[in-house]
Amino acid sequence: MRLYFKNRFVRNRVIISRILVLVMLLVFVISGAPVYSSENKLAILVYHHILPSGINKNFKENGIVISLELFESHMKYLHDNGYHTVTSSELRDFVFNSKSLPQKSVMIHFDDGYLSNYIYAYPILKKYGFTATLFAITGIIQTKGQTFNPDELDMMSWMQIAASMDVFEIASHTNNLHNPDNNNKTALMTASIETAKADISLSLKRVPNDKVFAYPMGQNNQEIVDMLKNLGVDMAFTVNCGYVTPGCDPMRIKRITIYRDFNVSLLEKIVTCKYKY
Ligand SMILES: [Zn+2]
Repeated sequence: MRLYFKNRFVRNRVIISRILVLVMLLVFVISGAPVYSSENKLAILVYHHILPSGINKNFKENGIVISLELFESHMKYLHDNGYHTVTSSELRDFVFNSKSLPQKSVMIHFDDGYLSNYIYAYPILKKYGFTATLFAITGIIQTKGQTFNPDELDMMSWMQIAASMDVFEIASHTNNLHNPDNNNKTALMTASIETAKADISLSLKRVPNDKVFAYPMGQNNQEIVDMLKNLGVDMAFTVNCGYVTPGCDPMRIKRITIYRDFNVSLLEKIVTCKYKY
């Protein structure tokens, strides 16, 4: 008899807890509670120069020059697995307002503004209906289109930038303060704040999206951050490896640089937020 009561008590508790879970789920669905990307984290992938492996003679040892074949396989994976590419505006809502992103979301960045991004990446991104943000070193963007030379590091032209804006959001990576000195400090870090402000003001005037900025080599300090904020920039990107989360520091957003040996299984780990860095 005592056992019967005990069992009935346990059974009732199980039923009540199941009802509670069901009610909570219903409230979640009815209230339109946000569905975040994996674990409420977003990966921003950073690409640079892209070359078909057969014509890469001079950049074989450069870890951030990736093959066209690898880039194509990355984009195919993202497309075949239903990924949505996040815009700067969606990222802003995610970071500042915790606004939901589709469950499978990723952001794609290109730094510097290489001609190879226009020749190779642009048609692939367009084919898959993807968008990306391209941070151009505006001072070395060309006034005339060049014939692509795989042995050199050619930059895009303003005409090519204009022609690819259905895929690329164009933003600033300084006007001409990108390169590092012998101590690996970028010109942005070693310039006076007045010079830095003049350079970035000019660069922001030359790009359509003047609210976001990528630090050359990710290098920054508080003075530069404050100057950018005064110029109206509200999101700035480093190359510190990590995921973006709502409420993170919007002026030091983490990104994941893609290297030439990042195969598709590693990409899968990155975009499913299982990448240990
Ligand atoms: Zn760069």
